Amino acid sequence: MSILVYAESAADGHFKKAALEAVSYAKSIADKAGDTVTAVAINATESSDALYKYGANKVLKITNDALKNFSPNAYAKVLNELKDGDTIVLPATNDASSFAPLLALKSSSTLVTNLIAAPSNVSPFTAERKAFSGKGIETIEVTEGAKVLTVLQNAFGLKENPVSGSEEAVNVSVSEADAKEKVTQVQQASSDKIDLKEAEIVVSGGRGMKGPENWGMIEELAKLLGAATASSKPVADIGWRPHSEHVGQTGKAISPKLYIAIGISGAIQHLAGVNSSKTIVVINSDAEAPFFKSADYGIVGDAFEVVPKLIEEVKKYKGV
Ligand SMILES: Cc1cc2nc3c(=O)[nH]c(=O)nc-3n(C[C@H](O)[C@H](O)[C@H](O)COP(=O)(O)OP(=O)(O)OC[C@H]3O[C@@H](n4cnc5c(N)ncnc54)[C@H](O)[C@@H]3O)c2cc1C
Repeated sequence: MSILVYAESAADGHFKKAALEAVSYAKSIADKAGDTVTAVAINATESSDALYKYGANKVLKITNDALKNFSPNAYAKVLNELKDGDTIVLPATNDASSFAPLLALKSSSTLVTNLIAAPSNVSPFTAERKAFSGKGIETIEVTEGAKVLTVLQNAFGLKENPVSGSEEAVNVSVSEADAKEKVTQVQQASSDKIDLKEAEIVVSGGRGMKGPENWGMIEELAKLLGAATASSKPVADIGWRPHSEHVGQTGKAISPKLYIAIGISGAIQHLAGVNSSKTIVVINSDAEAPFFKSADYGIVGDAFEVVPKLIEEVKKYKGV
């Protein structure tokens, strides 16, 4: 038997980092269960070597025009058709999370989302997941039957586990009629931007930044650190920043290694999207700002004084 894993690729045909993390996670289950890992690559152009590196024994390559535009129904149908065991692993990306419930329904499986650690046991399947919008960690147990699992980005991480894998081109019985609803257009804000959901470091600004004209320093700090930029909801609502950057309960949920919050109060709705971050740094002029309670490091100070100094120090450190 084999653990099936969806190796999601980006619009440029390259595997997403989240896909490689999902392969790593599938490998951790396979090693414990004595199974192999089979990855499904849909319309990907990158070599399968990237998947072998993280433990995929076999890669099923699908090239099909009906799957060119993402469709939850069609993708769920394909994965259900290809499963060869009782476990399917998906990255917790927006696309995969949108079809995971449908896939669980089609395959009569239990759905477990946002897993963060390798299972402590595979029978019954026992593992930790993020719960309550990231505020808690829950240990779940699937006592019987098949399961569909999603793996939270930047949580379990990438684990190199090279195997000499093989590739197989497969045909699937999917047509345009299966794409009951599909994505017809994707607007890329900027191709050189780091994907916010995948970023290991995120620099984020709130209303304390006073206006969009002051975002230069957020962007400069982000560029120096190789980080993505984010914002609080009001900032996106006012139009200072695009909504694609808005994090929180009603925006994107992220879990970077480092989250730097500048001029953000730390409302519960904001925290819901960022409190899975490994390390949180808060810069706020108000010592009573609620965000400091969730911070690993806090700087009480004016962002317009602190951030330029931070940029200066990072530049010195990096010798640029
Ligand atoms: C149903 C619902 C859903 C919501 N979903 C979200 C969500 O997904 N994401 C989200 O972010 N919010 C969300 N909100 C809004 C949330 O409640 C807060 O209103 C919002 O997060 C506040 O944004 P802010 O921290 O940028 O602004 P403010 O609350 O105005 O805070 C600005 C902060 O900047 C500090 N500051 C001011 N000047 C400076 C300076 N010069 N230097 C340093 N610090 C300074 C202030 O001390 C203050 O703490 C939601 C609200 C509701 C009701």
